[in-house]
Amino acid sequence: EEEKNKYIRGKELGEGTYAVVYEGRLRADPTQLVAIKKIKVQKEYSDGIAPDAVREIKFLQELRHANIVRLHSVYSTRDQNLCLVLEHLPRGDLEMLIRDTAAVRYGAADIKAWMGMLCRAVAFCHDRAVLHRDIKPNNLLVAADGELKLADFGLARSCADPYRPMTANVITRWYRPPELLFGARHYTGGVDVWSVGLVFAELVIRNPYLPGNTEVEQIGLICRALGTPTEDNWPGVTRLDSYTVPTDRIYPVAGRENFLGPFGTVGTEGVDLLMKTLVLDPRRRITSRAMLGHAWWHADPRPTAIQNLPRRN
Ligand code: ADP
Repeated sequence: EEEKNKYIRGKELGEGTYAVVYEGRLRADPTQLVAIKKIKVQKEYSDGIAPDAVREIKFLQELRHANIVRLHSVYSTRDQNLCLVLEHLPRGDLEMLIRDTAAVRYGAADIKAWMGMLCRAVAFCHDRAVLHRDIKPNNLLVAADGELKLADFGLARSCADPYRPMTANVITRWYRPPELLFGARHYTGGVDVWSVGLVFAELVIRNPYLPGNTEVEQIGLICRALGTPTEDNWPGVTRLDSYTVPTDRIYPVAGRENFLGPFGTVGTEGVDLLMKTLVLDPRRRITSRAMLGHAWWHADPRPTAIQNLPRRN
């Protein structure tokens, strides 16, 4: 109740699939804008918003980084809705920049700058045992100064306890790694790294790289583009609960030559990094920390300075 009273709710900013976002102002200093995100409680789910959820999300308030949307406050309302008070970021998201091919032009240096900000945010979370689990262009908001900010930790939670089973039904389908599609219950930061790889690919081709319409189709697209997961390239994969792959044709693991065509504009080092994020076996996939040590960041061209990044008008 006290948290709620710190803010004055203003006009609606937008509506998503499971939340309505309002502009808000700090009562003590109305020049300070915030975004208040009210999560719609789905009444059909009996568990609704448990006090647990509030506690779990509250610890995200400690997660402070230049490339992570700041969470100022969390509270539940009388009618059992969950409200997140967030940093106000009205300049849209990366998906809008990628899709606006008519007005927004960008190149390899810009992609490197955006990817650097994304990778720093993700490594920061993973170092603190926090998985984001829903990384996609639409969850990367652009700040007024051009800084890219990872948003929507609605699904994030600590993975500090590796034996606590986690639900496999997370991450928007196109960005979902094969281990989740196969129903793995114990997973790692590798799930986010896969999603980061797909954001990278999408930045280059300006289209979703693996846009499956169903889970079965998603697995089919992964097999065709990156290789069919088998015991040879991923020991243990066939024992995952929902392991199924198209058997009419077994695709070999994609090699460098398969990536150079579509993604060559980011250079050989860029292609190398992309390939390492899209390794089928999560144990062999590069970690977010290792991504930051990759040679691509130091190869030409250097990343664009944030104030010079392309923006929408
Ligand atoms: P979605 O991710 O499906 O777009 P969200 O619930 O995350 O849905 O957000 C709904 C809309 O609210 C967004 O499209 C955006 O216009 C706006 N919005 C979300 N977060 C912020 C924020 N931190 N600052 C300003 N506007 C925001």
